[in-house]
Amino acid sequence: MSQNASLVWDKCLSFIKDNIKPQAYKTWFEPIKPIKLSGDALTIQVPSKFFYEWLEEHYIKILRVALVKEMGDDAKLIYDVKMENSYSSKKPHTVKFPSSNRKPLNSQGITIPLDIDKRELRNPFIIPGIQKVKIESQLNPNYNFNNFIEGDSNRLGRSAGIAVANKPGGTSFNPLLIYGGVGLGKTHLAHAIGVDIKDKYPEKTVLYISAESFIQQYVDSVKSNTRNDFIHFYQMIDVLIVDDVQFLSGKKGTQDVFFHIFNHLHQNGKQVILTSDKAPVDMQEMEQRLLSRFKWGLSAELQSPDYETRISILENKLFRDGVVMPEEIIEYIAKNIKTNIRELEGVLISMIAQASFNKKEYTLPLVRTIVDKFVKNTKKEVSIDYIQKVVSKYFEMDVTTLQSKTRKRHIVQARQLAMYFAKRLTKASLASIGSQIGSRDHATVLHACKTVNNLSDTDRQFRTYVEDLTKKLSL
Ligand code: ADP
Ligand code: MG
Repeated sequence: MSQNASLVWDKCLSFIKDNIKPQAYKTWFEPIKPIKLSGDALTIQVPSKFFYEWLEEHYIKILRVALVKEMGDDAKLIYDVKMENSYSSKKPHTVKFPSSNRKPLNSQGITIPLDIDKRELRNPFIIPGIQKVKIESQLNPNYNFNNFIEGDSNRLGRSAGIAVANKPGGTSFNPLLIYGGVGLGKTHLAHAIGVDIKDKYPEKTVLYISAESFIQQYVDSVKSNTRNDFIHFYQMIDVLIVDDVQFLSGKKGTQDVFFHIFNHLHQNGKQVILTSDKAPVDMQEMEQRLLSRFKWGLSAELQSPDYETRISILENKLFRDGVVMPEEIIEYIAKNIKTNIRELEGVLISMIAQASFNKKEYTLPLVRTIVDKFVKNTKKEVSIDYIQKVVSKYFEMDVTTLQSKTRKRHIVQARQLAMYFAKRLTKASLASIGSQIGSRDHATVLHACKTVNNLSDTDRQFRTYVEDLTKKLSL
């Protein structure tokens, strides 16, 4: 670095420091490094293209005044913009941008502090304040790799997560999208990656955020006119973890802003980790350009754990809680709760609670009642629409036919069956069922239910209908 450049820049800085808010100074001027002074041109290094744009947009006047003061009217400013790990080059390199200000400015080179801890970031968690605080990762240390049990169902996601944690931003798994159904460990895995990165690279800025909070922050930033601060904050993060991105569906504004943040991070070799309850192809109302970004890296599905994995998860949990339970009980739980790890844990917690508060033993009857409750509570209620669709399809007619006023026997029967199942499988009132199935009144529905009951006792064919439909409609 040229000695002169430093001298000149230091003087500029002290002028600037006196004229802007301390927080702004810290954020926007401390990271700058003077690089060289040649003739009337001062080259400063800035950490990113975004940084350069921000300076040009907000601080060009004060920069100019400072430089002219130090170097005279012909002062020119050149930015040396650090491009880390961009697509075109694996190695960090810099690109030169002249200041847009036609009036020549002189400036010095700028360097980024490599020690990221010195960077202070604007924190949207306290928007609209102007304060900047060192950001909290929002990571939950209880969700780590040690207690994330490996199985066939999660091997790909887990391994990719470990690879990403070893080399954030440095693998082709960028973004890493983890997707899968409820309670299969997406949030746990996302935290585990963040926790591991924090462990290995304490200087990296890691941020975990749910898509819902992200949306809320964005909306707040628009209201309080701090949208730029919001964007800038997210663009300075090294590892961004966004949980449940499916919530961005239909949120056009947030998708736009996320698209820009994503591009910036990706271009600068920063790591992005996303989770979603759906595969990218199934995400509705998500902008195509965003979806295509999601597919740039790796999409790893978390599937329902197999029996062995369920047993391991249960045993591991019990071991950590220092609880001993008979094997047959553990097996009973693993056999009956199949698709949701959160429920597996829920049953264990209920068991432990019953045993310690009600002084009950860990017995099969106890575990049966608890498992039953879980299974029943989580059974989804079918909708009347769904029932009508299934019944119509079964009788090879369309829903409008089923709802029509016709008295043709097979259509009447189909309609009565739909009403009967609506009564049996939903909490809807007779009146409400009637109004949804062809605008009938509650008496018609009641009559339908009675008819179906009678017929299924007396008519073998009819009984088959009821049995078939029961199977089709049970979730
Ligand atoms: P999701 O975000 O997919 O809905 P979570 O990550 O919240 O699911 O997981 C639900 C619960 O199951 C959490 O308590 C989590 O710790 C636990 N869990 C999920 N996968 C595993 C696993 N492979 N090993 C141990 N616990 C797990
Ligand atoms: Mg989750």
